[in-house]
Formats: sequence, structure tokens, C-alpha cells
Amino acid sequence: MTPPGAARALERCEELAALTSMVGGIERVHLSPEHAAANALAADWMREAGLAPWQDQAGNVCGRLEGASPGLPALVLGSHLDTVPDAGRYDGMLGVLLAIEVAERVRRSGTSLPFALEIVGFADEEGTRFGTALLGSHAFAGTWAADWQALADPKGVSLGEAARGFGLDPATIAEAARAPADLVGYLEAHIEQGPHLEDAGRALAVVSSIAGARRLALTVTGRAGHAGGTPYDRRRDALVGAAEIIVEIERIAVQTGTIGTVGGVRAFPGGVNVVPGRARFSLDLRAETDTARDDAWDRIDSFARKVCERRGLQWAVEEFYRADAVACDPALRTAVEAGIRATGDEDPVVLWSRAGHDGMAVAAVTGVAMLFLRCGNGGVSHSPDEIVDEADVATALDAFEGAVHAVAARYEAHE
Ligand SMILES: [Zn+2]
Repeated sequence: MTPPGAARALERCEELAALTSMVGGIERVHLSPEHAAANALAADWMREAGLAPWQDQAGNVCGRLEGASPGLPALVLGSHLDTVPDAGRYDGMLGVLLAIEVAERVRRSGTSLPFALEIVGFADEEGTRFGTALLGSHAFAGTWAADWQALADPKGVSLGEAARGFGLDPATIAEAARAPADLVGYLEAHIEQGPHLEDAGRALAVVSSIAGARRLALTVTGRAGHAGGTPYDRRRDALVGAAEIIVEIERIAVQTGTIGTVGGVRAFPGGVNVVPGRARFSLDLRAETDTARDDAWDRIDSFARKVCERRGLQWAVEEFYRADAVACDPALRTAVEAGIRATGDEDPVVLWSRAGHDGMAVAAVTGVAMLFLRCGNGGVSHSPDEIVDEADVATALDAFEGAVHAVAARYEAHE
């Protein structure tokens, strides 16, 4: 068996990568058989590390290591075990595995912390199956919306049905919620999912805030017609209107320092010889602050209205996801910085997270902070090309452990 530490965490990423529903790639979605297998494996690893594991009513896998005395509030370390389609092997998983390594180090060292350590492998961060992200962490934070049981996957299976098939009782999901008084805070280690650390030649960063995002389904409606028989001055081509808007989205985003991505486009009826009567596309919009994000959206929306008016088209907007930006807790952030400093990095890099994370939901119930580690290949993520360097993983593990001890020192001083 590989000795504890970075190498073992990476080896376990490979084991999790094998739990996939996709031939030749990685896809592991909420409440799937692969999710069950990943939870079982993570529970085994937690048990090996000396934690008592369980699965909560939302399908999150959890483990607990008691502190100086039983029943103390817990510092939670975690990340997610679900993936996007054709995923990499480190996004989420590495954070859970580093958390397990930290807990094992604490247990082996015989240190008694002034709080319990809990590890959570969140069940759904990406929202791949039901289109709504952070399902696991919302349940944990007690911010689960009752109508989410009715969310359906692409095959029409509702979340409630999927939960029953997984062996959960959807009626008890509120029991997954944690009380603020039982928690000390939440720390997450995650790959950066961007090129900033690689470009700067640095291994680690402390996160200042997690960007909020809005996701919208946008529809342009015109009139379908014969590709040969409809003269240009009579066309109400929905797809050309959508294309104009999409190009402007990029321009506005670049100009405002926000990020706007159109990830899906469909034209209807979709015939090669038919002028498109309807076009639907998605928009994912994020920024460092909610104000910057919302201002960018207002500009996009007013541009789209003008295009549609000029072209005789209709414009419809449906927002299906919104998460506000979350600032990391100052004291926990300081602890993460102390952890990074303990690895010899005197001047920790500070980044805002462009990607969403479980901490956004967890912040409703306790303070959160994050440690980023460099990913290679230009920082690519949500792709099988995701890579990390073992030396960086080892440094991240030291920093993560250091952060836990820094939280403990501060907690003891304030008890
Ligand atoms: Zn992630």
C-alpha cells in the first residue's frame, strides 16, 4: 500500500476515476450507482484514517474524528465527489482525499484538537444530473428547497425517485442540515481550475471570495420559413439574431472584467433548408462581485432587446440558477494563509474563485475558507486533461494541515 500523503491521495484519485458511467472517460453524477460506490470507498478510507463514517440523508458521505473530548463542535474539511461529463480526476475529489490525509495526520500525531474534525464528500456540486448545482452542500447547510425533489434528469427521473432508488428517504432530507452551533467552520482545498498560479510559478493560493453566478436560458423567437423561398427582407431568422447577441456577450464580458459563457445553442426546427424560427442558448455569467455581474447582465439584456426589435424577433429570459458571491471568513482565511506560510511561502497569493464551490452553500451555516493549488496544462479543468503535480499536492497537504492547526490555536485562544 502507498504510504500516507500526497502519493496516496493521487492514487485514490485514480481509484475514484474508475467509478464512472462513461466509457473511456469520467462521469459520476448525483444518486447514481457510481455515486454509491464512491461514497462506499470514501467511507472505507475515512475508517482507515480513524474516522467514524456515515452517509447523510442527502447522500453526502461524512466522517468524524473526535477532538479533546467527545461531542465538540466540528471544523469541517471537504469538497465534492461528483463530476461533470468527461471530467478530470482532481476537481473535487482531491480536496476530499487531502482532507482524509489531514485527519489521519492529526490522529497519528496524537494531537488533541479543541474541536472535532469532520470530513464531507459532497454528493452534488456540479449539478450535472438535475441541472441545479450544490445540492449536497445546500442540504448540509439547511438551505434545501422543497421543490428540488421534483427536479428531473434528462431521462425524466425525478430527484425524489432517484433518492429512493439510492436508498434515501427524500422526506428526511432536512435531517442532513447542520446546526451552526455544531460547526467551527469549513475549509476546502481545491485545484485552481485556471492558469493564474501556473503563470505566476506558484503552488498555492488563499481564496478571497467565491464568485457568484447567474445561469439563464435565453430564447429568441422569429418565424421559420423556406431557405430558398424566403427573401432576406422578409426573414425573421432567430439564429442570426442569437448569434449577434452571443458575440456581444463576449465583448461586454471582456470590457467589464466579468465572465460570460454561452455553452449551449440550439436552433429549431433545425432543418438544413429551413430558416430557424427559434433559437435557444444558455448563458453562464460570473464576476468577482454581484454588482459587476448584474450590471453586465443589464447591458446584455438591453442589447438583446434592441437586436430583437430591429429584426422583428421576440426575446425571452428564464433564470434557472443564481448564487451570490461569498466572501471567505477573515479568521479562517488568515488560518489558510498561516498554513501556506508554514510551507515556506512568505507571501501567499490571493485569488478570487471564478468557479463555484460547495463553500458558497456552506457559508449559510458557518464561515468558509479555501486553499487553491496549481493545476498544470494551462490550468485546464472540467476536462480529462486536468493535471496536478505531486510536489504541489504534498505542499498543499502541509498547508491544509497547517491551516487546521492555525484554526485550533485561534480557537483555543478565544475559548
Ligand atoms: Zn469542484
